[in-house]
Amino acid sequence: MQANRGRDTAPEMTVRRALHAKGLRYRVQYRLPYMRRRSIDIAFPRHRIAIFIDGCFWHGCSEHYVSPISNANFWADKIQNNKNRDQATDRLLRENGWIVRRFWEHDALEDTVEKVVSLVTHATTELASDVE
Ligand SMILES: [Zn+2]
Repeated sequence: MQANRGRDTAPEMTVRRALHAKGLRYRVQYRLPYMRRRSIDIAFPRHRIAIFIDGCFWHGCSEHYVSPISNANFWADKIQNNKNRDQATDRLLRENGWIVRRFWEHDALEDTVEKVVSLVTHATTELASDVE
């Protein structure tokens, strides 16, 4: 369990470093005026692409989440609230024209990186062709 929930978690840092090595430039913990209490883990504002790297514990991964034995009800509520919040965040972003992709911390790094790179590259091509 991580103490520094939601900020600079190890899996997120690993993904960020790999994307940077691929030449992608992004904003981290990106905030939007209509989303005050939440932020996007990795954002490409120009393309309106929002990437989240979800921790298996905090976001209730169906493969790896194991409820703590003490305060089980508290944790069940807490994780369910987090999941609801994630869904609300996704909805809000999509309503505002963002493309939202969530990855699990357990996802293979190369798969996550490949998907993000392809998403951003595709969006860049589209932007370029809009200009023509
Ligand atoms: Zn998992």
